[in-house]
Amino acid sequence: MDREKVVKAIEELLEALGEDREREGLKDTPRRVADAYAELLSGEGKSAEEHLSKTFAAESGDLVVEKDIAFSSTCEHHLMPFFGRIAIAYIPDGRVVGISKLARTVEVFSKRLQIQERLTREIADEVMRVLKPKGVMVVCEAEHTCMTCRGVKKPGSKTVTYAFGGAFPEDKKEEVFLLLK
Ligand code: ZN
Repeated sequence: MDREKVVKAIEELLEALGEDREREGLKDTPRRVADAYAELLSGEGKSAEEHLSKTFAAESGDLVVEKDIAFSSTCEHHLMPFFGRIAIAYIPDGRVVGISKLARTVEVFSKRLQIQERLTREIADEVMRVLKPKGVMVVCEAEHTCMTCRGVKKPGSKTVTYAFGGAFPEDKKEEVFLLLK
């Protein structure tokens, strides 16, 4: 990210919006917005390999579910936040990963310009690629501020997306759905 360019762009945006950018409340806004974007897009270009490769052997365990991983991301269509919870379920093939590492993985892929469908898919693909379980299922439930604060304005409405990888049997899917209810 070119921080100086972002600062300039926000200055111009404020001007284009007809604001007096010299007034007190707006004086530091371009700098603050640039800092915010640096953080919101900090997952850009990163992979979750360093997190997901810290695995340990697990003798049994035919289903691991980590649910209620809170996330926030930025919608690439409106540059507005969407946020919610993600659940990652996988069927280990001899190895499992520390619970915090799944949350780290969510962090990497949510701190980018995203759409919810791709976020869900990228997490599933990365878990398959690095952890190599027998199967993975990712469920993402999110509220989009571009929908709840503008446009159709339906506060509290949620969008749910799913992504699967490898082999994830029907009965295991049922188990996960039950758990998420
Ligand atoms: Zn949007």
